[in-house]
Amino acid sequence: MPIDATLPYDDQNIFAKILRGEIPCKKVFEDDWALAFHDINPQAPTHVLVIPKGAYVSWDDFSATASDAEIAGFVRAVGQVSRALGLVEPGYRLLANIGMDSHQEVPHLHVHIFGGKPLGPMLMR
Ligand code: 5GP
Repeated sequence: MPIDATLPYDDQNIFAKILRGEIPCKKVFEDDWALAFHDINPQAPTHVLVIPKGAYVSWDDFSATASDAEIAGFVRAVGQVSRALGLVEPGYRLLANIGMDSHQEVPHLHVHIFGGKPLGPMLMR
């Protein structure tokens, strides 16, 4: 079910539970600002999610209300994870879904990192 990204943050969402260690994940990176882990239902040979440590519903919420330090830390973490996964030379794709039309399902900001094969052109159906 897609979520309404204008609603307040719900601390019972699945990624909040992963951040609190209540649900396991296959972690690939963690620092003060971000946690990265493999997607449970990968759509590419490499499919990793990067989430901020702070409580933000979406990219919209984050870009409007996060501190400069949180934004810098999160953006740098996405780059660091992508480099550590060896994706820069072959190339990769970033995606952040925001709200109903994008079909965002988890109401905690996450950036998808896709790679590991030629991904083809981005398709809108
Ligand atoms: P969205 O559609 O919100 O952009 O993407 C949510 C992503 O979270 C999906 O790709 C889905 O497979 C992934 N996901 C949902 N629940 C879990 C979970 O419990 N663990 C992990 N690792 N990924 C999850």
